[in-house]
Amino acid sequence: MQGETKQSFKKGDVLMREGDPGDCAYVIESGNVEILVQRDDTLVQIGTRGAGSILGEMAIIDDKPRTATVRALDDCEALRISRQDFSRRAENADPVLKMVLHVVMTRYRDLIGRSRLLRFPHEEAGHTEQHENMNELHDLALSTLKIHNELKTAIAENQLALFYQPIVDLQKMKIKGFEALMRWQHPEKGLIPPSVFIPVAEESGLIQQMTVWALGEACRSAQKIQKAAGEDITDGDPLFISVNFSVRDFSDGNAHEKIKEILSENGSSAEQIHLEITETLLMEAPEQAKASLEECRKSGINVSIDDFGSGYSSLNYLHYFPIDTLKIDQSFVRAMHTHPASRVLITSIIGIARNLNMCVIAEGIESAEDAKLIRDLGCEQGQGYWFAKPFPLEDALTFVGSWQAPDF
Ligand code: C2E
Ligand code: CA
Ligand code: CA
Repeated sequence: MQGETKQSFKKGDVLMREGDPGDCAYVIESGNVEILVQRDDTLVQIGTRGAGSILGEMAIIDDKPRTATVRALDDCEALRISRQDFSRRAENADPVLKMVLHVVMTRYRDLIGRSRLLRFPHEEAGHTEQHENMNELHDLALSTLKIHNELKTAIAENQLALFYQPIVDLQKMKIKGFEALMRWQHPEKGLIPPSVFIPVAEESGLIQQMTVWALGEACRSAQKIQKAAGEDITDGDPLFISVNFSVRDFSDGNAHEKIKEILSENGSSAEQIHLEITETLLMEAPEQAKASLEECRKSGINVSIDDFGSGYSSLNYLHYFPIDTLKIDQSFVRAMHTHPASRVLITSIIGIARNLNMCVIAEGIESAEDAKLIRDLGCEQGQGYWFAKPFPLEDALTFVGSWQAPDF
């Protein structure tokens, strides 16, 4: 088995100690061990295990301390499984399996905690905190499963919606396009923001279906918005809609084929759609992502890097991947009035973009002062609440139909 290592223990050796941080599990191959827990000043044996038993397995699932001490009763051979190795395997496991595993392990720890309380009731006080943490984990796991389930219904029953936020040319004060931002119109809970459901969708694999839907919807909206906008408002170029993509959207290597298919099904041209991806995506799926993005780029689709500067920020990938636009992360814009270093970073990003022939968009413009400073620093385009908060398609149609460039 790759990744596991064999370890020998002499009679009396301690394999793990209660309360210590755990980073591995052991499978006993030969010999016997005893399991001990601390009771007042003495170690009390609560069981023994022989060949074939797995010990300390919880430490490779979560990073809680060891719940017992394990000592060799005679000379033992054991296989050591590190958390790192387990995590690598778990990464590739089915997401539902992963979720269930977490729930089961949480319950298992809970059960062990409770059975210990039955044995040593006076320990209750010391265990309350751990108990609360477990309950929190439990609640989190259950709410994840609940959202996952409801999200499946949401997809089937068309409860997902796209909101649109304008992206403006700061020099000419014309509308360049919109970013499409997903919302979940829950029948009872109302509008749910993407920060709640996108992570669950990514974890469970539902995101691929959702992105396909969003891309088709964005294609159809791009045409309606284009019709509603006059040429003097858009500066003659077709308006684009930027669609957010996740790592998983690029995991199977044929993302470009699906994207081109959706564009052609909807009669959209390549310049009407931009792909927004994060630095994390490029780092996590470099090979498939690169090939797919190159194909998209060849067919004329713009590729933007979202939240630029907030992630890995390895400048290396800027020439390795086909990139057209850098979107400056909101955090830089938020800090630029108070932190001169943020202004320097913004200027540097604009310089990098210019030198590499890329376009640059500043996110999070919330005031006329933000817009002015960003424009003065040389940024071409901007997006933020000051121009408009993300709104439904009907509002986007009104927005382009009645656009008045703000004075600042
Ligand atoms: P993002 O792609 O960085 O989107 C920008 C977020 O900043 C949006 O939040 C937007 O409403 C918010 N925003 C825009 N202007 C301002 C401003 O001036 N000030 C502040 N404070 N915030 C501003 P939202 O819509 O809640 O989306 C959050 C994140 O969810 C997005 O961040 C993106 O990572 C993800 N997301 C949204 N829609 C999709 C989608 O269709 N697919 C995927 N994969 N992810 C999505
Ligand atoms: Ca985005
Ligand atoms: Ca962003």
